[in-house]
Amino acid sequence: MIRVQENTSLKPYNTFGIDVKTKYFCEIRSDDELQELIATDLFKNEKKLILGGGSNVLFTRNFDGLLILNSIQGIEIVEETEEKITLKASSGERWHSLVMNCVKHNWGGIENLSLIPGTVGAAPMQNIGAYGVEVSEVITKVEAIELTTGEIKMFTREECKFGYRESIFKNTAKEKYFISSVTLTLCKKNYHINISYGAISDILKQMNVSQPTIQSVSEAVIKIRTEKLPDTTTLGNAGSFFKNPEIGEKLFEKIKSEYPVIPHYTAANQQVKVPAGWLIEQCGWKGKKFDRIGVHATQALVLVNYGDANGEEIFQLAMKIIQSVREKFSITLTPEVNIF
Ligand code: FAD
Ligand code: NAP
Repeated sequence: MIRVQENTSLKPYNTFGIDVKTKYFCEIRSDDELQELIATDLFKNEKKLILGGGSNVLFTRNFDGLLILNSIQGIEIVEETEEKITLKASSGERWHSLVMNCVKHNWGGIENLSLIPGTVGAAPMQNIGAYGVEVSEVITKVEAIELTTGEIKMFTREECKFGYRESIFKNTAKEKYFISSVTLTLCKKNYHINISYGAISDILKQMNVSQPTIQSVSEAVIKIRTEKLPDTTTLGNAGSFFKNPEIGEKLFEKIKSEYPVIPHYTAANQQVKVPAGWLIEQCGWKGKKFDRIGVHATQALVLVNYGDANGEEIFQLAMKIIQSVREKFSITLTPEVNIF
């Protein structure tokens, strides 16, 4: 049975550790509980916000509506052949638990996405990606519930309009749906091991692995991430605060003439991807601490809450970073984190 709380702090539910309140709060543990909530007047009348692990949000103010904490669990096999396996995962499942389950069974496709915090339901939101793999490569369907009508809608991969840290759910369908499950197809045979990111092959060498497997790639990713990224349980953060910008060749050549060592990667549509962390570092922000907030010392893309900072302070720091990168490089960084 569902329980709706009033005036609840969201501090335990967002990895930045921001202490804002929501007018109404309801944790949903099953599809039945979700249906029960949908039938309430509260659901019909209030503004709604869905929260999974809270690892990609920055709250700058109290939320004047109904916050739904998604804890719906369950993974089922919907189809299996000798080559492939299709899984339907409930959206409140922890993403990393799903990955570990697949790695254990030797099902290939998401091992590079090991240790990404948060829920399965949020994965299609920004088309989570890491180390050369995006979740859109394995998603076949996303089931979602329309928040105003309670109707179920099925999105095919094409309808999700996935892009680089983008999807329809961050754009035209923003805040309109509760993603209830995600269907993914993984490879049991002939999987492609992706070690295109230098950091993975370096760690594999250190681990004396000459023939990488699903398991060893996952282990390598977990090792790199554990060493490099701040632990959200001890230091408030939401991972990369900004997306890596993709810029035109002309602007890239102009910047390169001044900064010949600028790291860069080929992107789609003749664009060049430049690591936002490098741009931020060049502007002198890396490792800077301002009272209760700062820019992480080993990864300039990560903004941190050292204590009881509020979301507005972090937001203002982000705005200053955007401005200085724009002034120095004529590049406008876009936040990846969802700001409320
Ligand atoms: P939340 O923060 O709870 O929500 C994010 C957004 O999705 C919000 O707008 C929310 O309203 C919406 N939402 C959540 N669940 C649903 C749902 N069921 N239906 C509809 N809307 C929903 N991201 C990457 O892409 N790659 C990485 O490598 C990566 N590394 C990270 C490392 C660290 C240390 C941290 C803190 C974050 C990292 N992230 C990364 C960002 C984040 O973990 C992912 O974006 C993750 O998918 C967010 O999941 P969540 O459940 O915490 O989402
Ligand atoms: P990194 O290895 O220091 O590299 C910096 C950036 O350069 C990365 O963000 C990556 O872009 C890009 N890059 C590196 N090698 C590349 C290659 N061979 N081809 C294309 N692009 C390349 O990055 P990091 O910060 O340690 O992160 C490692 C991976 O984890 C990245 O994929 C990153 O996106 C992911 N990550 C994401 C978050 C988040 O919150 N979103 C947090 C931590 C880590 P891409 O980001 O486009 O891959």
